[in-house]
Amino acid sequence: MRRFIVLLFYCSIVLLFGCQNQKLYKDTQLMLGTFVEVISPHRQAPGIVFAEIKRIENLLSKYNPESEVSKLNKLGNLKASPETFYIIKRAKEFWQVSDGAFDITVAPLVDLWGFTDKKYYLPKEEEIKDILNLVGANKIILKELENVIKFSVSGMKIDLGAIAKGYAVDCAVKKLKENNIKSCLINAGGQIYALGDKFGLAWKIAVRNPRGKDLMDYLVIKDKAVSTSGDYEQYFIKGKKRYAHIFNPKTGYPTDSGVISVTVIAQDGITCDALSTAIFVLGKEKGQELAQKFPGVEVRIIE
Ligand code: ADP
Ligand code: MG
Repeated sequence: MRRFIVLLFYCSIVLLFGCQNQKLYKDTQLMLGTFVEVISPHRQAPGIVFAEIKRIENLLSKYNPESEVSKLNKLGNLKASPETFYIIKRAKEFWQVSDGAFDITVAPLVDLWGFTDKKYYLPKEEEIKDILNLVGANKIILKELENVIKFSVSGMKIDLGAIAKGYAVDCAVKKLKENNIKSCLINAGGQIYALGDKFGLAWKIAVRNPRGKDLMDYLVIKDKAVSTSGDYEQYFIKGKKRYAHIFNPKTGYPTDSGVISVTVIAQDGITCDALSTAIFVLGKEKGQELAQKFPGVEVRIIE
């Protein structure tokens, strides 16, 4: 899942400055279905980040049967915590603004095509048509006053895979700031946040070539989130055609917009995560139009 490789220049920095208080602490844990990597001059930073991301995973993961999302998917309605309600509400806003390209109700499609259990399958037209009756975020009813979420069609499910990592990273950054930590790099499987700088220099991250193993580009960022959506991490090939894990919610097929990778740079992770997925679905032209609705957001699209 790691599309970004954090360039670790700390060896040279230690050489350059040569003093002990310029040491970086690095730790990695498997959570949210990916590797979460934390680098910081503060010893306690990784622990703070992991605890917060784990807390979000327990609320939002569809793979954890005890999570609020699993309960909602099972029952079709839920009195949710304010936090779960908030993220689903934000997801519905991204659905609206992206003209339906970003849609968390794609979960039954993700299941049908075998991406949930990694038993990939090319469904028949009729199967896709049937499942499309369950897709559409307009079918999620939000009762704001009571934090109640309801599906209007039985059998609907949601999948927060395209937004949860961004939200989790935002929450972790908030916790770091509460603990007065001003320098930290978080990489949750390509969902990145660079807090502050590293001994006075901006954090530098490398972007992988989506069709190779080499590095293609690098970004220098400070107090910003970066996210990439692509067709090169989770996909299967059948009859010379590549089917990747991001769906066009209107057709029920994996997106075929001509884009192979979208990188978004924004102030916060949730915007980055949702937009990179939405732009991947929309393609270059419409994707750029969407990005323009978000001031300060930068986009790099590879076709
Ligand atoms: P990654 O999770 O690999 O970082 P994304 O953020 O683009 O990549 O999220 C992709 C995941 O989001 C898919 O695995 C699927 O669970 C879900 N998904 C697929 N298509 C859509 C879509 N059109 N809108 C919202 N979520 C989607
Ligand atoms: Mg995303």
